[in-house]
Amino acid sequence: MSIVHHPSEAWLLDYALGNLNEAFEAVLRAHVGVCAECREAIEFAERLGGELLQALPAAGAPGGAREICDEYEQRHAGAAAVSRAHGLGASDDIEQFVQVYLNSSLDALPWRQIGRGLRLCRLSEQDGARMWMLRGQPGTVLPVHGHAGSELTLVLKGAYFCGSEIFRAGDIEDADESTEHRPVITRDGECVCLAVTEGRLRFRELAPRLVQPFVGI
Ligand SMILES: [Zn+2]
Repeated sequence: MSIVHHPSEAWLLDYALGNLNEAFEAVLRAHVGVCAECREAIEFAERLGGELLQALPAAGAPGGAREICDEYEQRHAGAAAVSRAHGLGASDDIEQFVQVYLNSSLDALPWRQIGRGLRLCRLSEQDGARMWMLRGQPGTVLPVHGHAGSELTLVLKGAYFCGSEIFRAGDIEDADESTEHRPVITRDGECVCLAVTEGRLRFRELAPRLVQPFVGI
């Protein structure tokens, strides 16, 4: 698996610190499981955090620094022994991935057809972050859409284009309020993605806006 697109450093730092809600954490854990480069970045952040802690004065620290240090240690007890950099050992076998992550087979998930060649399955919603899977047939063109918050999309199988960029299995597309895109699934095979989105998607065209309330995207 040759991975080209990674989450930003800010995402990796929040992941290393355990600051993310479950949905974003899960999609990043799946990427980290197959991405050596991001594992290294997380290990670096963990080492740096450990060294900063040791550099803080042990007693009599002004301004509550000691309390911050204690709180950090409590929250991250055992972090040095169990690094978050190891992910969940996701593999490029999609059936195995879905079995491990969702305790289901791909076909048994509650898919809904939302347009020609496109199926969607909502998996969870927590603190305004929705996790869903998307399954598109070769050559399917998705509607143009913008975002009301962050969106991380992990490609599990196949590939899609966004403008001049191509996202393949293992890649993460890191989008936010400034991103408007029209993903196009490549013609060589089905594409399956796991995505986490904050806030509603903003569709430019009428048809997806009309189905939006029914599928909850
Ligand atoms: Zn990566």
